[in-house]
Amino acid sequence: MEKLASGTLKGGMQDFSLTVDRVISHAARWHGNREVVSYYDDGSEDRLTYHEIREAAARLSNALLEMGVKKGDRVATLAMNSGRHLVAWYAISGIGAVCHTLNPRFSIDQLEWIANHASDRFLFADGAFFGLAEELRNRCSSIEKTVYFTCPSVQKSSDVQLYQDLISDHESECVWGDFEEESAAGLCYTSGTSGDPKGVLYSHRSNVLHTLMTTQSDVLDIGVNDVIMPIVPMFHANAWGLAFSAPAVGARLIMPGGQLDGKTLYHRLKQERVTFSAGVPTVWLGLLDHMEATNSRLPDLKTIVVGGAALPEHLLRRFSKLGCRVLAAWGMTELSPVGGVVAPVPEFEEMSEEEKIPYQLKQGRPFFGIDMRIVGEDGTQQKHDGIANGELQMSGPTVCQKYFALNSKSATEDNFLKTGDIATIDSFGFVKITDRAKDVIKSGGEWISSIEIENAACTFPGVSMAAALGIPHPKWDERPLLLITVSGAVTISLEELAKHLASRLPKWWLPEEIRVVDQIPLGATGKVDKKVLRDTI
Ligand code: AMP
Repeated sequence: MEKLASGTLKGGMQDFSLTVDRVISHAARWHGNREVVSYYDDGSEDRLTYHEIREAAARLSNALLEMGVKKGDRVATLAMNSGRHLVAWYAISGIGAVCHTLNPRFSIDQLEWIANHASDRFLFADGAFFGLAEELRNRCSSIEKTVYFTCPSVQKSSDVQLYQDLISDHESECVWGDFEEESAAGLCYTSGTSGDPKGVLYSHRSNVLHTLMTTQSDVLDIGVNDVIMPIVPMFHANAWGLAFSAPAVGARLIMPGGQLDGKTLYHRLKQERVTFSAGVPTVWLGLLDHMEATNSRLPDLKTIVVGGAALPEHLLRRFSKLGCRVLAAWGMTELSPVGGVVAPVPEFEEMSEEEKIPYQLKQGRPFFGIDMRIVGEDGTQQKHDGIANGELQMSGPTVCQKYFALNSKSATEDNFLKTGDIATIDSFGFVKITDRAKDVIKSGGEWISSIEIENAACTFPGVSMAAALGIPHPKWDERPLLLITVSGAVTISLEELAKHLASRLPKWWLPEEIRVVDQIPLGATGKVDKKVLRDTI
């Protein structure tokens, strides 16, 4: 009988490393004919089965090996969601290299900083990002070669190649996964709304565990009968894990391309009979406006996941009216990224629809594999009574331990990630994020939640977006300023809006000033960019 170093008896189960190539191999073997449909902005589309994706990925792995890619090398992608992007993803990680998803919405300076910090050796890019990719290669000496997924104008040379040539020139058998499951598989930089971006280095093990954890019925609740459309991009925190979890369960996958206006989204969702989709609130807002204006319905769409920013109440109510389940989810790049989902608890059965709403607007509750706590300014853990608040801290096998090539510490001594979010946790375990630590408005020594003000403003008819920030005040330190945008040609009475807020918020939370603006700036991941906003007011 084999004993382990601890003196315990070694279990009798097979060695089976949790590496992500297993996901696509499983999809190819058991759901080989299921399609991944990709729409491109030039009007073209393609349909690849999971079998074809696996085969193309193996061919591309062989091409990468021939190009000299070694285990641990970073290979970047600059691309929208597509089957080809998926091929590159599995091809890179299958041979132990690291797939570094670059966010094309970052500025060229940010991209240069990130690609240099990551020492990316190769770059895969959509033809649509030709200019950006070329500029990046000029600025980053570590990038040896760019491979374009498609690009009619590209001049092939020793350092510029086409994806299709690499695929067709190589064999479809390749050894994958001959390394430890703790090896790095993917790299994704946070948006860096404060300070420089930070790289989160996912391991094969963390990605596979995240896949197993998030497919549970109390989390994303997806299965083989679903048609899944990740609107959230693959470059934003692993497309919330969907590029792993959809093939893992054998679901049909629809990649919508870069055109995300309400009308286009509606047509994609309808045409492909999508049952499950995920995106940030701004994307859903566009779809809602379109559906309401055209009095249209999406009978197949069972669930939409709203994450990345707080779920606005009006969005929940309006989508529910259209017969679609709205699932609020919360996450961070550092959490692989899902941290909690508002999956119903049995106690909901006893509640009326109205009573459930405050819970449905929270951020989510922990599922198996994730632990969390809230810690007050004095370092003590706070009660789970839905009132006491503190910094949200997280632990688990899918939580970032340390940032890539940075010395800064993100975890506490007992290994909880400090999220920088201020939150309450109620007796059911539902987390409510009241603010980012840096966005909280500090007035007279007390905290005002900018999110609560924004949510209250968005329930006023005609308000389409809202952003609240603290502005300096001689007596109170900071006071709230509320900026709103208005839908279409609606005229809003600011006096009525102020009354509406007064009926929903504590008196001392009421904005000092409300301004109607043409636009509220969004950052590279589709969230309100308060840093830019602060600089412009
Ligand atoms: P990122 O890593 O770019 O996805 O940003 C993560 C941060 O976005 C979190 O720490 C939260 O502050 C915020 N966030 C994500 N999802 C939500 C949500 N559902 N509600 C409120 N804030 C959210």
